[in-house]
Amino acid sequence: MTVRTLEQVAKEALADPDRFWGRQAENLVWHRKWDRVLDWNPPFARWFAGGLLNASINCLDRHMGSDTKNKAAMIWESESGESRTLTYFQLYRYVNKFANALKDLGVKKGDRVTIYMPMVPELPVAMLACARLGATHSVVFSGFSSQALVDRINDAKSKVIVTADGGFRKGRLVDLKKVVDESLSSTPSVEHVVVLKRAGNAVKSGPKDVWWHEAIERASAYCEPEMVESTHPLFILYTSGTTGKPKGVMHGTGGYLTHLYATAKWVFDFKKTDVFFCTADIGWVTGHSYMVYAPLMHGLTEIMYDGAPDHPAPDRHWAVAEKHGATILYTTPTALRMYMKYGDAIPNSFDLSSLRLLGTVGEPINPEVWMWYFKTIGKERCPIVDTWWQTETGGIMLSACTGIDFVPMKPGSATFPVPGVDAAVVDEEGKTVAPGTKGYLVVKRPWPGMLLSLWGDDEKYKKTYWSRFEGMYYPGDYALADSDGYLWLLGRADDVLKVAGHRLGTMELESAFVSHRAIAEAAVAGRPDATKGEAIIAFLVPKEGVEKSDALRKEVVEHIRKTVGPIASPDEVYFVGKLPKTRSGKIMRRLLKSIASGDRIGDITTLEDGAAIDEVKQAYDELKKTLR
Ligand code: ATP
Ligand code: MG
Repeated sequence: MTVRTLEQVAKEALADPDRFWGRQAENLVWHRKWDRVLDWNPPFARWFAGGLLNASINCLDRHMGSDTKNKAAMIWESESGESRTLTYFQLYRYVNKFANALKDLGVKKGDRVTIYMPMVPELPVAMLACARLGATHSVVFSGFSSQALVDRINDAKSKVIVTADGGFRKGRLVDLKKVVDESLSSTPSVEHVVVLKRAGNAVKSGPKDVWWHEAIERASAYCEPEMVESTHPLFILYTSGTTGKPKGVMHGTGGYLTHLYATAKWVFDFKKTDVFFCTADIGWVTGHSYMVYAPLMHGLTEIMYDGAPDHPAPDRHWAVAEKHGATILYTTPTALRMYMKYGDAIPNSFDLSSLRLLGTVGEPINPEVWMWYFKTIGKERCPIVDTWWQTETGGIMLSACTGIDFVPMKPGSATFPVPGVDAAVVDEEGKTVAPGTKGYLVVKRPWPGMLLSLWGDDEKYKKTYWSRFEGMYYPGDYALADSDGYLWLLGRADDVLKVAGHRLGTMELESAFVSHRAIAEAAVAGRPDATKGEAIIAFLVPKEGVEKSDALRKEVVEHIRKTVGPIASPDEVYFVGKLPKTRSGKIMRRLLKSIASGDRIGDITTLEDGAAIDEVKQAYDELKKTLR
């Protein structure tokens, strides 16, 4: 067999994308083959139009005739160290039973089901059961409180909610059922609430409640899958709300699964012997795509961890990876920065030699953090795949593809588009910019994992993604291609500061702060300034044990002047204990910006920790006083 380089594969893919993606789709199980690979009625794409399939068959039934049947599908581990393992057969049986239970409650093709559950195997079971019936799932992250849940249920008009008597987070009980009960008076579409016993929490039973265990007890172990059109909505998922109010992203079935199947193979080079540890919460897209659908389609063993990365100790990912022999770790820069803050001794006390590949997603990774990941965790043996994508893209769009070819790594670069994805960096007019020039990342033609639309809002879909540049998808991220063609993500396109006529990406500045030995995390925001346009305000989290002093402040400013230039010198530097983050772990820059410029604070339902914003505000107010 001749081995082709990534460049050759990518070139061939773009020369005839329909043929290329059609070949990838053949890796799925279809009930009826598609008539056309792509039906493109801009900006609406119908992938594999005319095809019929079912997502749960592709994840489960397909393995029932092979030796994958009795292999571990999911190894679940809790914060307190309990484990559970489900084989593919057990998962298959469980999904069938729960699908029948939902069917008994009247759920059918086209209905929406909201899933508000802790990170337990029953969460993917509920998703796959919906898929089996052709119902569209809408998973709501279990850290959300009542208003966020109400908004999402009402937007989707869900018929059923699947929840639990509780979950655990940092040793504390999270009373999910109570949140659901509170939501019921303002969610008229809901007919039934299925409640899983998970936390041993005494919950109040209401007229709409059905116990999970009772519902499946009566259910038969086989449920005939509903064959759906390739473009049938598999799920709705709300974005994390970093830049504004969360958007209800709607994904189809055939295109989405094709994109996942292919990218998982290319990026992670999934092998039957792998133990894949993705640390994302299923409440976010990474969990949907690369914890539920992609690994199961490939018949992989995966680890599902239910808990915080730092409770009871800041070692959970390493402990879990060691205990279950993870071969691939896929995590976020924010988790890595947290671990890095605690030093090398903790990861070094674990045997991480089973790891062969490391991945990151969610934010640009600072080169400093990349090096730490490479050296301390991967012991310079494991390649790193920095994967850029979004809820909207469904699957990975830019990344090294270790399953195709090894390209030299560059710390902090997401490298190249995956084959079949036509990405470019353009200027304000939509013209491709010269290498080394910052611009906007765009995608120039549809890809199979592309969102169908925003749920119930085609206009907003057009406006948000397809109106900025004629005929191109606009993700809203700032990027550059270097002279070797490598792509570098430079943060959100609206996260650019204009200081005295210079455009500075927030990401670039933050990486410079983090490269100082005493700084663990950094966020910068602009404050309108009469002379300079914008002044840079920095919020910094020092590493463990570092004193927050004026001397350190001076040192940090000097460091920025040296590394980025005098133009980047911050007007104000505040030391804080933590940064306000969305529940998916991203810094909520729009909030910092509001604080820095004294504006009103907008929608904060996706904020992880209300205390963090108070803390940042307080630090800011106090320092302001002392400065005057
Ligand atoms: P909202 O759209 O509501 O503001 P969000 O964009 O944070 O929320 P997601 O879809 O979860 O919601 O995140 C996608 C975004 O995350 C990308 O647009 C990009 O800004 C960032 N991102 C993801 N992966 C990477 C990466 N590898 N490098 C740089 N940025 C990344
Ligand atoms: Mg986004």
